[in-house]
Amino acid sequence: MLVIKNISDLKQEIRKIKKAGLIIGFVPTMGYLHKGHLLLVKKARKDNQKVVASIFVNPLQFGPKEDFNHYPRDLKEDCRLLKKEKVDILFYSSARELFPEGFDAAVEVKSLSRIMCGKFRPGHFQGVCTVVNKLFNLIEPDTAYFGEKDAQQLVIIKKMAEDLNMNVAIKGLPIVREADGLAMSSRNTYLAKDQRKQALVLYQSLLKAKELIKNKETDSEKIIQHMRKIILKKPAILIDYIEIRNFDTLREVKKIKGKVLVALAAKIGKTRLIDNIIVEV
Ligand code: AMP
Repeated sequence: MLVIKNISDLKQEIRKIKKAGLIIGFVPTMGYLHKGHLLLVKKARKDNQKVVASIFVNPLQFGPKEDFNHYPRDLKEDCRLLKKEKVDILFYSSARELFPEGFDAAVEVKSLSRIMCGKFRPGHFQGVCTVVNKLFNLIEPDTAYFGEKDAQQLVIIKKMAEDLNMNVAIKGLPIVREADGLAMSSRNTYLAKDQRKQALVLYQSLLKAKELIKNKETDSEKIIQHMRKIILKKPAILIDYIEIRNFDTLREVKKIKGKVLVALAAKIGKTRLIDNIIVEV
């Protein structure tokens, strides 16, 4: 596996791959890899001739009071895992390299960035789109892989690629969970034992929503109330939002119909977790 830190070396390698006519799959991450990330890498490996992964804790997508400085990092272990999956190139860059003094561009999918997590994290999705656009320009992937764990991000990236006619297919893959149901996340490492235990109600509330929908409940508000009740039993959890939206458009769904995304965000102490479930009726 080639580990590349600077833009010019990366461009040179990509040029070689393109000249050879090889298909590139790309997996962008912020590192501290777990099985969720590795699912994306495995799929990229299966479907492409060359696999590029990136690790970059992107300062643009963190708010001033968020956990940028504390975000977990373990390059050595990440490299070991990516090598094991036979990744060809790891692009491991720095903010100085990607956003040098004077960097002034921004890419945004406007309305989708202001709802759900966007309400609580202003500027977050603009930061995501800007860095992902930049990585797409550098890596020129045929397909890029994203997790449904960050469902809003996935929909926004798809919309960005479509609206800006990017030459990349966006592929979403399902959430990988711990054995007890907690959605895998690099941020789970922040949770104390008791917090982690309480966090399990998030997935339980989503399962309840799924069960209600399967039992023909169509009133979104009622489903959300049921979920709220389950989560509020755990005193350590503060709900940011619970929403039910169309999975493709993120339009709000009042009466359950089609493919819906039941999504939530909550804080446990200082840790903000997101989770969701996609249900099709
Ligand atoms: P991150 O490193 O958190 O920015 O995540 C990088 C990519 O991995 C994103 O596309 C995430 O949606 C995806 N991802 C993170 N956690 C999971 C998970 N538990 N299951 C599937 N994909 C995930």
